[in-house]
Amino acid sequence: MALLRIRKFPDPVLKQNAEPVENIDGSLATLLDSMAQTMYAAPGIGLAAPQIGESRRIVVLDTDHENPGKNLLKLINPEIVETSGSVIFEEGCLSVIDYTADVKRAEKVLFRAWTPEQKQIEIEADDLLAIAIQHEIDHLDGKLFIDRISRLKRELYRRKLQKMIKEGKADGHRPSAVRI
Ligand SMILES: [Zn+2]
Repeated sequence: MALLRIRKFPDPVLKQNAEPVENIDGSLATLLDSMAQTMYAAPGIGLAAPQIGESRRIVVLDTDHENPGKNLLKLINPEIVETSGSVIFEEGCLSVIDYTADVKRAEKVLFRAWTPEQKQIEIEADDLLAIAIQHEIDHLDGKLFIDRISRLKRELYRRKLQKMIKEGKADGHRPSAVRI
């Protein structure tokens, strides 16, 4: 297994609508393992394939900080079936450096996906898992959390990032943020 390079905004692969997986095979399982390793090393609680440059509908998620690996989810073609309520949460992202923002999402979601063992699963999620799965599915649809904030805030971030890149400071992370 290898650690994969995480793509950062404004990499164009993050804007693409990812392709559904048609074959669940060994190479896909290997890719999911490498994605999980990359997510833990980052560290983050979720990683979608476009974030490592693969425009395919696969995601790894682990919101259980206390027992890393125990509740690891490897999801293929995940989709949200039902949502309810709404909640605002301060999100960060492994692909958006040095920035967090309050994002409004559904509070509870029912989602469906395939596993590397070719089983279809359905999960009722709330709290952090509900937020994380919505954030990851956004990645598969070519969307970042900064696409869900106001244009003004997004523009201010864009300028801040350009300045950081110019000054060679664009490699830092805010360790306090929950990065999905
Ligand atoms: Zn993200």
